[in-house]
Amino acid sequence: MAAQIIDGKAFAATVREKVAGHVARLKEEHNITPGLAVVLVGEDPASQVYVRSKGKQTVEVGMNSYEHKLDAETSEEDLLAVVEKLNNDPEVHGILVQLPLPGHLNEDLIINSIDPAKDVDGFHISNVGLLGTGQKSMVPCTPLGCLMMLRDHHGSLSGMDAVVIGRSNIVGKPMAQLLLGDSCTVTIAHSRTKDLPDVVRRADIVVAAVGRPEMVPGDWIKEGATVIDVGINRIERDGKNKLVGDVDYASCAERAGAITPVPGGVGPMTIACLLANTVTACCRANGLAEPEGLTA
Ligand code: NAD
Repeated sequence: MAAQIIDGKAFAATVREKVAGHVARLKEEHNITPGLAVVLVGEDPASQVYVRSKGKQTVEVGMNSYEHKLDAETSEEDLLAVVEKLNNDPEVHGILVQLPLPGHLNEDLIINSIDPAKDVDGFHISNVGLLGTGQKSMVPCTPLGCLMMLRDHHGSLSGMDAVVIGRSNIVGKPMAQLLLGDSCTVTIAHSRTKDLPDVVRRADIVVAAVGRPEMVPGDWIKEGATVIDVGINRIERDGKNKLVGDVDYASCAERAGAITPVPGGVGPMTIACLLANTVTACCRANGLAEPEGLTA
Protein backbone atom coordinates (compact mmCIF):
# COMPACT_ATOMS: atom_id res chain seq x y z
CA MET A 1 0.00 0.00 0.00
CA ALA A 2 1.39 3.41 -0.92
CA ALA A 3 0.96 5.91 1.87
CA GLN A 4 -1.03 9.09 1.50
CA ILE A 5 1.35 12.04 1.67
CA ILE A 6 0.37 14.59 4.29
CA ASP A 7 1.26 17.84 2.57
CA GLY A 8 2.47 20.15 5.33
CA LYS A 9 3.30 22.93 2.90
CA ALA A 10 -0.26 23.10 1.60
CA PHE A 11 -1.73 22.68 5.09
CA ALA A 12 0.47 25.49 6.44
CA ALA A 13 -0.84 27.74 3.66
CA THR A 14 -4.43 27.09 4.83
CA VAL A 15 -3.42 27.87 8.43
CA ARG A 16 -1.82 31.15 7.31
CA GLU A 17 -4.95 32.01 5.34
CA LYS A 18 -7.10 31.45 8.43
CA VAL A 19 -4.72 33.58 10.50
CA ALA A 20 -4.81 36.34 7.87
CA GLY A 21 -8.63 36.27 7.95
CA HIS A 22 -8.65 36.69 11.73
CA VAL A 23 -6.07 39.46 11.55
CA ALA A 24 -8.19 41.32 8.99
CA ARG A 25 -11.27 40.99 11.23
CA LEU A 26 -9.36 42.17 14.31
CA LYS A 27 -8.27 45.26 12.37
CA GLU A 28 -11.67 45.98 10.87
CA GLU A 29 -13.90 45.28 13.82
CA HIS A 30 -11.65 46.18 16.75
CA ASN A 31 -8.90 48.37 15.31
CA ILE A 32 -6.30 45.95 16.71
CA THR A 33 -3.26 44.69 14.83
CA PRO A 34 -1.60 41.63 16.39
CA GLY A 35 2.14 42.10 16.88
CA LEU A 36 4.95 39.56 17.19
CA ALA A 37 8.35 40.51 18.61
CA VAL A 38 11.31 38.26 17.86
CA VAL A 39 14.53 38.67 19.81
CA LEU A 40 17.74 37.36 18.29
CA VAL A 41 20.98 37.39 20.25
CA GLY A 42 24.16 36.84 18.24
CA GLU A 43 24.72 35.82 14.66
CA ASP A 44 24.00 32.10 14.43
CA PRO A 45 23.37 31.66 10.67
CA ALA A 46 20.49 29.15 11.05
CA SER A 47 18.80 31.39 13.64
CA GLN A 48 19.16 34.39 11.33
CA VAL A 49 17.39 32.45 8.55
CA TYR A 50 14.56 31.40 10.92
CA VAL A 51 14.11 34.93 12.27
CA ARG A 52 13.99 36.42 8.76
CA SER A 53 11.44 33.85 7.69
CA LYS A 54 9.30 34.44 10.79
CA GLY A 55 9.36 38.22 10.25
CA LYS A 56 8.43 37.88 6.56
CA GLN A 57 5.50 35.55 7.21
CA THR A 58 4.27 37.70 10.12
CA VAL A 59 4.00 40.70 7.79
CA GLU A 60 2.42 38.59 5.02
CA VAL A 61 -0.56 37.69 7.23
CA GLY A 62 -1.04 41.36 8.12
CA MET A 63 0.49 41.41 11.59
CA ASN A 64 3.15 43.77 12.91
CA SER A 65 6.63 42.31 13.18
CA TYR A 66 9.20 43.70 15.59
CA GLU A 67 12.75 42.42 15.36
CA HIS A 68 15.27 42.99 18.13
CA LYS A 69 18.77 42.01 17.10
CA LEU A 70 21.25 42.10 19.95
CA ASP A 71 24.93 41.39 19.77
CA ALA A 72 26.39 38.09 20.96
CA GLU A 73 27.95 39.70 24.06
CA THR A 74 24.64 41.10 25.35
CA SER A 75 24.46 40.66 29.12
CA GLU A 76 21.68 38.74 30.85
CA GLU A 77 20.61 41.96 32.54
CA ASP A 78 20.25 43.78 29.21
CA LEU A 79 18.36 40.91 27.60
CA LEU A 80 15.99 40.70 30.59
CA ALA A 81 15.40 44.44 30.21
CA VAL A 82 14.45 43.99 26.53
CA VAL A 83 12.01 41.20 27.44
CA GLU A 84 10.53 43.29 30.25
CA LYS A 85 9.95 46.18 27.84
CA LEU A 86 8.17 43.86 25.41
CA ASN A 87 6.11 42.35 28.25
CA ASN A 88 4.82 45.85 29.01
CA ASP A 89 4.23 46.91 25.41
CA PRO A 90 0.50 46.67 24.56
CA GLU A 91 1.29 46.57 20.82
CA VAL A 92 3.22 43.32 21.31
CA HIS A 93 1.02 40.22 21.74
CA GLY A 94 3.64 37.57 21.14
CA ILE A 95 7.30 37.40 22.20
CA LEU A 96 9.78 34.86 20.92
CA VAL A 97 13.39 34.68 22.04
CA GLN A 98 15.20 32.71 19.35
CA LEU A 99 17.05 29.70 20.76
CA PRO A 100 19.80 28.65 21.19
CA LEU A 101 21.13 31.62 23.16
CA PRO A 102 24.88 32.23 23.52
CA GLY A 103 26.37 30.09 26.31
CA HIS A 104 26.70 32.87 28.92
CA LEU A 105 22.93 33.41 28.97
CA ASN A 106 20.63 31.22 31.09
CA GLU A 107 17.91 30.08 28.66
CA ASP A 108 15.48 28.94 31.36
CA LEU A 109 15.79 32.25 33.19
CA ILE A 110 15.21 34.25 29.99
CA ILE A 111 12.27 32.13 28.77
CA ASN A 112 10.63 32.27 32.18
CA SER A 113 10.92 36.07 32.20
CA ILE A 114 8.51 36.30 29.24
CA ASP A 115 4.90 37.09 30.18
CA PRO A 116 3.29 33.60 29.84
CA ALA A 117 0.34 35.17 27.99
CA LYS A 118 2.79 36.42 25.31
CA ASP A 119 4.93 33.27 25.26
CA VAL A 120 4.00 32.18 21.72
CA ASP A 121 6.67 29.45 21.75
CA GLY A 122 4.91 27.83 24.71
CA PHE A 123 8.18 27.19 26.55
CA HIS A 124 7.45 29.18 29.75
CA ILE A 125 7.19 26.89 32.76
CA SER A 126 3.61 28.12 33.39
CA ASN A 127 2.54 27.10 29.90
CA VAL A 128 4.27 23.73 30.31
CA GLY A 129 2.30 23.20 33.54
CA LEU A 130 -0.98 24.35 32.02
CA LEU A 131 -0.55 21.99 29.06
CA GLY A 132 0.38 19.13 31.39
CA THR A 133 -2.78 19.65 33.42
CA GLY A 134 -5.02 20.01 30.37
CA GLN A 135 -5.66 23.73 30.84
CA LYS A 136 -5.71 26.50 28.27
CA SER A 137 -2.10 27.44 27.46
CA MET A 138 0.22 28.58 24.72
CA VAL A 139 1.23 25.36 22.95
CA PRO A 140 4.72 24.81 21.43
CA CYS A 141 4.49 25.41 17.67
CA THR A 142 6.02 22.22 16.23
CA PRO A 143 3.88 19.74 18.22
CA LEU A 144 0.82 21.95 17.64
CA GLY A 145 1.46 21.69 13.90
CA CYS A 146 1.75 17.89 14.17
CA LEU A 147 -1.52 17.71 16.13
CA MET A 148 -3.34 19.85 13.55
CA MET A 149 -2.20 17.57 10.72
CA LEU A 150 -3.19 14.43 12.66
CA ARG A 151 -6.64 15.82 13.50
CA ASP A 152 -7.13 16.88 9.90
CA HIS A 153 -6.20 13.42 8.65
CA HIS A 154 -8.02 11.27 11.22
CA GLY A 155 -10.76 13.45 12.66
CA SER A 156 -10.79 11.92 16.15
CA LEU A 157 -7.58 10.45 17.59
CA SER A 158 -9.42 8.91 20.54
CA GLY A 159 -8.19 5.46 21.57
CA MET A 160 -5.32 5.34 19.08
CA ASP A 161 -1.92 3.99 20.14
CA ALA A 162 0.66 6.74 19.67
CA VAL A 163 4.42 6.43 20.05
CA VAL A 164 6.51 9.59 20.28
CA ILE A 165 10.21 8.94 19.73
CA GLY A 166 12.17 11.64 21.54
CA ARG A 167 11.56 13.33 24.90
CA SER A 168 12.79 16.89 24.36
CA ASN A 169 11.01 19.78 26.06
CA ILE A 170 10.29 21.48 22.74
CA VAL A 171 8.92 18.54 20.75
CA GLY A 172 8.67 15.09 22.36
CA LYS A 173 7.14 15.92 25.75
CA PRO A 174 4.56 18.51 24.60
CA MET A 175 3.67 16.24 21.65
CA ALA A 176 2.93 13.42 24.07
CA GLN A 177 0.80 15.75 26.24
CA LEU A 178 -1.22 16.88 23.22
CA LEU A 179 -1.84 13.30 22.06
CA LEU A 180 -2.89 12.37 25.59
CA GLY A 181 -5.22 15.37 25.57
CA ASP A 182 -6.82 13.92 22.44
CA SER A 183 -7.28 10.58 24.25
CA CYS A 184 -4.52 8.56 22.58
CA THR A 185 -2.70 5.87 24.53
CA VAL A 186 0.75 7.41 24.51
CA THR A 187 4.22 5.91 24.81
CA ILE A 188 7.27 8.16 24.91
CA ALA A 189 10.33 6.35 23.59
CA HIS A 190 13.88 7.67 23.88
CA SER A 191 17.54 6.75 23.64
CA ARG A 192 17.28 4.29 26.54
CA THR A 193 14.09 2.55 25.37
CA LYS A 194 14.47 -1.24 25.26
CA ASP A 195 13.48 -2.82 21.97
CA LEU A 196 12.46 0.37 20.18
CA PRO A 197 11.39 -1.49 16.99
CA ASP A 198 8.88 -3.51 18.99
CA VAL A 199 7.49 -0.39 20.70
CA VAL A 200 7.11 1.44 17.38
CA ARG A 201 5.41 -1.58 15.73
CA ARG A 202 2.48 -1.24 18.15
CA ALA A 203 1.73 2.32 17.10
CA ASP A 204 -1.18 3.62 15.05
CA ILE A 205 0.59 7.00 15.14
CA VAL A 206 4.37 7.39 15.13
CA VAL A 207 5.90 10.81 15.77
CA ALA A 208 9.66 10.77 15.23
CA ALA A 209 11.58 13.65 16.87
CA VAL A 210 15.05 12.30 17.37
CA GLY A 211 17.50 14.23 15.20
CA ARG A 212 19.05 11.10 13.61
CA PRO A 213 18.86 10.84 9.85
CA GLU A 214 16.53 8.08 8.60
CA MET A 215 16.75 6.17 11.87
CA VAL A 216 13.29 4.54 11.63
CA PRO A 217 13.12 1.88 8.90
CA GLY A 218 9.91 0.75 7.23
CA ASP A 219 9.81 -2.62 8.98
CA TRP A 220 9.24 -0.85 12.33
CA ILE A 221 5.99 0.61 11.00
CA LYS A 222 2.66 -1.13 11.52
CA GLU A 223 0.76 -1.55 8.25
CA GLY A 224 -1.47 1.50 7.77
CA ALA A 225 0.01 3.61 10.61
CA THR A 226 0.37 7.38 10.34
CA VAL A 227 3.96 8.61 10.44
CA ILE A 228 4.79 12.18 11.41
CA ASP A 229 8.45 12.95 10.80
CA VAL A 230 9.68 15.96 12.78
CA GLY A 231 13.37 15.42 12.04
CA ILE A 232 15.35 17.89 9.96
CA ASN A 233 18.78 16.47 9.20
CA ARG A 234 21.25 17.77 6.66
CA ILE A 235 23.26 14.98 5.07
CA GLU A 236 25.55 14.57 2.09
CA ARG A 237 24.54 11.89 -0.44
CA ASP A 238 26.02 11.28 -3.88
CA GLY A 239 28.06 14.45 -3.43
CA LYS A 240 24.95 16.56 -2.84
CA ASN A 241 23.54 18.20 0.30
CA LYS A 242 20.15 16.75 1.19
CA LEU A 243 17.52 17.32 3.85
CA VAL A 244 16.15 14.10 5.37
CA GLY A 245 13.92 13.26 8.30
CA ASP A 246 14.24 10.85 11.20
CA VAL A 247 12.42 8.10 9.27
CA ASP A 248 13.54 6.32 6.15
CA TYR A 249 10.89 7.84 3.90
CA ALA A 250 10.91 5.31 1.05
CA SER A 251 10.53 2.17 3.15
CA CYS A 252 8.15 3.78 5.71
CA ALA A 253 5.90 5.11 2.92
CA GLU A 254 5.48 1.52 1.68
CA ARG A 255 3.90 0.42 4.97
CA ALA A 256 2.34 3.57 6.40
CA GLY A 257 -1.21 4.68 5.68
CA ALA A 258 -0.08 8.30 5.70
CA ILE A 259 3.27 10.05 6.10
CA THR A 260 4.73 13.55 6.23
CA PRO A 261 7.64 14.18 3.83
CA VAL A 262 10.86 16.03 4.66
CA PRO A 263 11.02 18.75 3.50
CA GLY A 264 7.42 19.91 3.11
CA GLY A 265 5.84 18.15 6.09
CA VAL A 266 6.13 19.32 9.69
CA GLY A 267 8.64 22.10 8.90
CA PRO A 268 6.28 24.62 7.25
CA MET A 269 3.67 24.04 9.97
CA THR A 270 5.96 25.36 12.71
CA ILE A 271 5.99 29.01 11.62
CA ALA A 272 2.30 28.81 10.61
CA CYS A 273 1.54 27.75 14.21
CA LEU A 274 3.66 30.59 15.56
CA LEU A 275 1.42 33.00 13.66
CA ALA A 276 -1.65 31.11 14.92
CA ASN A 277 -0.40 31.40 18.51
CA THR A 278 0.17 35.13 18.07
CA VAL A 279 -3.37 35.77 16.88
CA THR A 280 -4.68 33.56 19.72
CA ALA A 281 -2.60 35.53 22.26
CA CYS A 282 -3.91 38.79 20.82
CA CYS A 283 -7.55 37.66 21.10
CA ARG A 284 -7.03 36.46 24.68
CA ALA A 285 -5.30 39.73 25.65
CA ASN A 286 -8.27 41.69 24.35
CA GLY A 287 -10.97 39.43 25.83
CA LEU A 288 -12.15 38.38 22.37
CA ALA A 289 -13.26 34.95 21.16
CA GLU A 290 -10.35 32.78 20.11
CA PRO A 291 -10.08 31.72 16.48
CA GLU A 292 -11.39 28.20 16.01
CA GLY A 293 -9.11 25.41 14.77
CA LEU A 294 -5.90 27.29 15.53
CA THR A 295 -5.35 26.06 19.09
CA ALA A 296 -5.05 22.65 20.74
P1 NAD B 1 16.69 16.79 20.97
O1 NAD B 1 18.10 16.47 20.56
O2 NAD B 1 16.45 17.81 22.01
O3 NAD B 1 15.99 15.45 21.45
C1 NAD B 1 16.15 14.26 20.76
C2 NAD B 1 15.49 13.13 21.52
O4 NAD B 1 15.69 11.92 20.80
C3 NAD B 1 16.03 12.91 22.91
O5 NAD B 1 14.96 12.94 23.82
C4 NAD B 1 16.66 11.50 22.89
O6 NAD B 1 16.34 10.73 24.04
C5 NAD B 1 16.00 10.88 21.68
N1 NAD B 1 16.94 9.96 21.03
C6 NAD B 1 18.21 10.20 20.65
N2 NAD B 1 18.75 9.09 20.11
C7 NAD B 1 17.79 8.14 20.14
C8 NAD B 1 17.73 6.80 19.71
N3 NAD B 1 18.77 6.19 19.16
N4 NAD B 1 16.57 6.12 19.90
C9 NAD B 1 15.50 6.72 20.44
N5 NAD B 1 15.51 8.00 20.86
C10 NAD B 1 16.63 8.69 20.71
O7 NAD B 1 15.94 17.13 19.61
P2 NAD B 1 14.60 17.97 19.31
O8 NAD B 1 14.87 19.41 19.56
O9 NAD B 1 13.43 17.33 19.96
O10 NAD B 1 14.51 17.78 17.74
C11 NAD B 1 14.36 16.49 17.16
C12 NAD B 1 14.44 16.62 15.65
O11 NAD B 1 13.38 17.43 15.22
C13 NAD B 1 15.71 17.29 15.12
O12 NAD B 1 16.03 16.71 13.87
C14 NAD B 1 15.29 18.73 14.92
O13 NAD B 1 16.05 19.36 13.91
C15 NAD B 1 13.88 18.53 14.48
N6 NAD B 1 13.00 19.68 14.75
C16 NAD B 1 12.22 20.08 13.73
C17 NAD B 1 11.35 21.14 13.92
C18 NAD B 1 10.48 21.56 12.79
O14 NAD B 1 10.04 22.68 12.73
N7 NAD B 1 10.16 20.65 11.89
C19 NAD B 1 11.30 21.80 15.13
C20 NAD B 1 12.09 21.35 16.18
C21 NAD B 1 12.95 20.27 15.97
